[in-house]
Amino acid sequence: MIFSENEPRFVILLGPPGAGKGTHAGPLSKILQTPHISTGELFREQIHNQSPLGILAQKYIGLGQLVPDEVVVDMLFQRLKEPDCKKGAILDGFPRTVYQGKILANRLSEKAKILALFFAVGEEEIIKRICGRLSCKGCKKPYHIQFAPPQKPQTCDDCQEELIQRSDDKEEIIRERLLVYSKKTKALVDYYQKQNNLLKIDASQNPDIVLKNCLSALGSAQLQSV
Ligand code: AMP
Repeated sequence: MIFSENEPRFVILLGPPGAGKGTHAGPLSKILQTPHISTGELFREQIHNQSPLGILAQKYIGLGQLVPDEVVVDMLFQRLKEPDCKKGAILDGFPRTVYQGKILANRLSEKAKILALFFAVGEEEIIKRICGRLSCKGCKKPYHIQFAPPQKPQTCDDCQEELIQRSDDKEEIIRERLLVYSKKTKALVDYYQKQNNLLKIDASQNPDIVLKNCLSALGSAQLQSV
């Protein structure tokens, strides 16, 4: 599967929090040789640096709510201007509203193709997954206390940095994030379905199978579009 400057591909990872978007974004980015852009991660960097954007975003993220559309769109398009995005990108956490989806479609070049991978998984499974998740403070590699534990407690297998829990991965905030997903983000499933750009993946399966299914769905979609 080849992404090129003549046929840039933007792969959207769509699904509720905890569906596995972050877990699969890294491997997909390596295999497809396309940058992984996570708007949540871009915000967390800004929060860490206490920039004006970070201070603003923190107010919404701490409540489990969405950061206003214009703020996210500006931040994302700044990142997409960078030369490594010429062949496309794996978008993790964007779009999160139909408005964002429309802006993305309007502002990308005409030759760009959007493919949405929809990670379908039930709510109880999501709560179980999010409550135990951890990530490396340094390289951001994801872990899970029960499903993907590190070899040494609280330590990244790859870079030996400390593992941390996201401040918005607490049960009451997760419930709010799930509500926001149902009210604002879920409509994107229909939006991409109507455009024939939706690839549905059963994300309740084990991660190796999910990754394999993502790649074969993207491969078939790529073939159909040439
Ligand atoms: P994530 O890491 O994708 O779960 O994002 C963490 C938080 O960042 C979300 O709960 C939102 O508050 C905010 N955020 C990330 N991406 C977006 C987006 N596309 N639109 C609005 N808010 C976002």
